[in-house]
Amino acid sequence: MVIVTKFGGTSLANGRSLEQVVDIMLANTDRRVNVLSAPGKRYKEDTKVTDLLVQIGIGAYDGKVPTQLVDELTARFSDITSYFNIEGFFLEGLLGQLDAKIRKTSADKDEYLDGIKPYGEIIISEIAAEVLRRKDMDAQVYLPEDIGMVTNSSFGNAKLEETSYEKIGSSLKPVLEESNKVVIVPGFYGVDEQGRYTTFQRGGSDLTGAILANTLDAELYENWTDTNGIMRADPRIVSNPDVIARLTYKEARELAYSGAEILHPDTLIPLIAKNIPLNVRNTFDQSKEGTYIAATKKTNGNVVEGIAHQDGFTMMYIEKIGMNEETGYLSKLMNIFSEEGVSIDQITTSVDSVAIAVASKGNNGRIGAVREGIIRKGLVDNSNGVDVGYDRSMVCIVGEGMRYVPGVLQRLSSALTSEKINIETVYQGPSERNIIFGLDQKDAVRAVQAVYNLYFAKQPMQAK
Ligand code: ASP
Repeated sequence: MVIVTKFGGTSLANGRSLEQVVDIMLANTDRRVNVLSAPGKRYKEDTKVTDLLVQIGIGAYDGKVPTQLVDELTARFSDITSYFNIEGFFLEGLLGQLDAKIRKTSADKDEYLDGIKPYGEIIISEIAAEVLRRKDMDAQVYLPEDIGMVTNSSFGNAKLEETSYEKIGSSLKPVLEESNKVVIVPGFYGVDEQGRYTTFQRGGSDLTGAILANTLDAELYENWTDTNGIMRADPRIVSNPDVIARLTYKEARELAYSGAEILHPDTLIPLIAKNIPLNVRNTFDQSKEGTYIAATKKTNGNVVEGIAHQDGFTMMYIEKIGMNEETGYLSKLMNIFSEEGVSIDQITTSVDSVAIAVASKGNNGRIGAVREGIIRKGLVDNSNGVDVGYDRSMVCIVGEGMRYVPGVLQRLSSALTSEKINIETVYQGPSERNIIFGLDQKDAVRAVQAVYNLYFAKQPMQAK
């Protein structure tokens, strides 16, 4: 049986936490393939190693290597090696390699930065393997470039080539079958056809682990982090939310896409394809079982499992009397968005109006052109027919149990109304697994709190 694990940045932030990671790897011999992120924050104001690398890269690209940051980076790793009494020379080769890359600026900035960004993952993986070897384990680092993790050339947002699944399988499966090796793979990156480093989106080590779990037909994918699992709502917004014990893949995907900062949203795709469960667990408290995500779960009576929200949307409200009778109206409208390269996040329609939400980031410059296009192509009677609202939020309430209970939408909207929160759009898909409210960003936190209180707030203590 093979378990693939992935350890997040805080689990690797310093020597002490790496020691816990190594203990977890040793505690179960099925943990044969282990994906590591770069060291994360040691304390709130600290800088993640990946961010240090980005800052160093940007400085060097602009003509001045920020030597102070390079020293800081070296110190991050040498603190870890000295914790384990691993000699200094261990790091020299890798840091030398990184230094050469930093100094060799290429024409394209994203390509250049992607050459540097994976070094947090690479170096910590080599350190972890060395620590394991000192504990008599046969541990070895397998770099993504050596196991066929080939992606397209979208630097900073790379996507795995379909053919890589087979390549990775055929390089690692024999290792697992023919030896007792503990395999360590640095997360977050791959290489393109030309062998250049490419990184996934930030948080992409989750994806590396899921890809490996898929290719190796793992029994389980464990995602080790610094919380007891996925919480019902953001703990910065509600106090002490419970951990969700079980989620279906679909619930977890809704939550991840709606802003719950739990998993890289694409993580579940390779797992769903092979029906591999995912267990989110806490490196710092192994007694907790965490959140278990699989295709199905036993009915547990919960109507709502979790609440997430995402800020930063722009909403376009389009109104035209009789739009419901105009054949092809929506497709003409969609065309205008696609011609301008604006991707749509959500559409809510009624008889004479439609509300379209798009992510503000990267799109706001093009919203004006979309609006012009809508007016020019006669999709509204006059310019008053199209309105734009900025700084909108989507609040997403997720739970498979909603399907079986009448009146959920009504309860949710009265909870928001009693908080004097104006709901602008409501979406409920045919799956009835989620309800999404579009509202003003300034109301989003209160909206999450209101829904949380409705379903989860613990009973106040009775006064004696
Ligand atoms: N180290 C990368 C990041 O900070 C990837 C990861 O942690 O998953 O985004």
